[in-house]
Amino acid sequence: MRASSNRLTTCDACRLRASKIFFAFAVGPFIAWGAGWGGSEKIGALTRTGGAQDSAQRLQNLIDLGATALCCTPSYALHLAEVAKKENINIRDSAVRSIVVAGEPGGSIPGTKARIEESWGAKLYDHTGATEIGAFGFTCLAQCGVHLNEGEFFAEVINPQTLEPADEGELVLTNLDRLGSPIIRYRTGDQVRLARDKCECARTFVRMDGGIIGRIDQMLIVRGVNIFPSAIEAIVRTFPQVTEFSVEVDRIAEMDELTIKAEVMDQNPKAVIDALAREAHRRLGLRVGVQLAAPETLPRFELKARRFTDKRKK
Ligand SMILES: [Zn+2]
Repeated sequence: MRASSNRLTTCDACRLRASKIFFAFAVGPFIAWGAGWGGSEKIGALTRTGGAQDSAQRLQNLIDLGATALCCTPSYALHLAEVAKKENINIRDSAVRSIVVAGEPGGSIPGTKARIEESWGAKLYDHTGATEIGAFGFTCLAQCGVHLNEGEFFAEVINPQTLEPADEGELVLTNLDRLGSPIIRYRTGDQVRLARDKCECARTFVRMDGGIIGRIDQMLIVRGVNIFPSAIEAIVRTFPQVTEFSVEVDRIAEMDELTIKAEVMDQNPKAVIDALAREAHRRLGLRVGVQLAAPETLPRFELKARRFTDKRKK
């Protein structure tokens, strides 16, 4: 699509119609990706769901189909890559050139994004939205943050405590052209940081630097330090040896303790665990426990991942 215009050239339109877009999950009462599905059909792309299939079958299906684009959560893109490795399926040589992810911050976490792009040999694009208000953000071809679609939404960012305008804080949206579900000044609960400098793609829509940083109500306060789960994922994903992880926060002897459990594929997993603990300490500014988990014992996720547990809330 042309960067500076909403009009498609003949070449753009042909290219989009030739797309084969694979949605790697069942489409049922689950409403997410509804706009993506509708958009895929609207541009005339071949649109296929991977419903009622396991991950290996989905991989085979998307390869047989010659899918050029894959839509799923970042966690599931990584899980599919893990299954492909185990099943000896070469996804780097597949026709998939674009992966559009939603539902989690991973698409804008550099380490997660790099790992998905490397595994698939494809470009990753983050897509943000909420059932209540619609799909409001997209990564452009310049892959520089996530543009807020200001053609369809009036966007504000506020300090969630004082409600004063801010450049980093809670995203508040008013949709301008949505049938059936108009909402005025909807507090999304998403933490964002706005970037207003010019994007290489020439769009003037403001960008969310780092996409959606996290849900404001999921921010952890550990020994006085504010931590979004995405900050922990950003650290863990810099270790390619870590195949899956989970995080727990608990209060032990009146002290908050943050523990990362990590599955590690390496000849010397202890060294990886120690290095991860040091890096987490350095970047978060607090001591973090890191434990080794046995291979394939931590849960994998098809839809939104739930890797973070705050046991203090019980
Ligand atoms: Zn752009």
